[in-house]
Amino acid sequence: MSLLQLKDIRSEVEGKEILKGLNLNINKGEVHVIMGPNGAGKSTLASILVGNPKHKLIDGDIILDGENINDNTVDERAKKGIFLSFQYPEEIPGLTVEDFLRTAKEAVTGEKQYLMQFHNELEEKMEKLHINPEYAQRHLNVGFSGGEKKKNEILQMAVLEPKLAILDETDSGLDIDATKIVFEGVQKLKTNDTALLIITHYDKVLDYLDPDFVHILMDGKIVRTGGKEIVEEIEKNGYGKMKKQFGL
Ligand code: ADP
Ligand code: MG
Ligand code: MG
Repeated sequence: MSLLQLKDIRSEVEGKEILKGLNLNINKGEVHVIMGPNGAGKSTLASILVGNPKHKLIDGDIILDGENINDNTVDERAKKGIFLSFQYPEEIPGLTVEDFLRTAKEAVTGEKQYLMQFHNELEEKMEKLHINPEYAQRHLNVGFSGGEKKKNEILQMAVLEPKLAILDETDSGLDIDATKIVFEGVQKLKTNDTALLIITHYDKVLDYLDPDFVHILMDGKIVRTGGKEIVEEIEKNGYGKMKKQFGL
């Protein structure tokens, strides 16, 4: 069953057209990977999906679970289950990772999260993801390595249980071990009712993920869709050959 349909999406930022007729269908239970050269519009796609007001949707339809969400705000979309992991930029000495995650859950569900119950649920999730429980008691971002910051993104996803999780270059700056924890974790979090949209430029990610589809985004459009074999092609030839093929 279709979870997300993007129909002929065109978008604009600062008066410049970025997405130029993008089509994508994601069914429940699927993992989709989006790759493409720098500046292709990958992060713009993530912004358009979550409803980032900087990016204007000038044409097309975003259908989530059969409902047009073009006019929904960021908060409304989050409540409907669209999730984009975000890096909290600051160090916050008084706030633990657990406090942060509980507050995020309250914000998205609109329901009070009771301390002990939330704590126990979080511990279970961390165990499943092979993240040391001590991590939840650390103060947010204080002395965190790149990998530790990224674990927070995966935990956000585990706690918020979104219908559609979008990860935009969650791999950047991770070493192999951290990449493995993060992406094996991501794969574990997917259920038959949810889907993942993973944006990456790092083909190693595909060692830990088993995507149903790989899409190549170029110049604001999806120009190729296939399986993992596309990744091998890009590893070998870069994007140059494909760009030529599409007259870019
Ligand atoms: P990718 O993630 O594929 O590298 P982006 O979606 O970040 O590409 O960017 C696509 C294009 O949109 C780039 O030319 C970029 O400069 C432009 N762009 C993205 N966000 C903004 C913004 N907030 N203001 C101006 N230009 C932007
Ligand atoms: Mg970029
Ligand atoms: Mg980007």
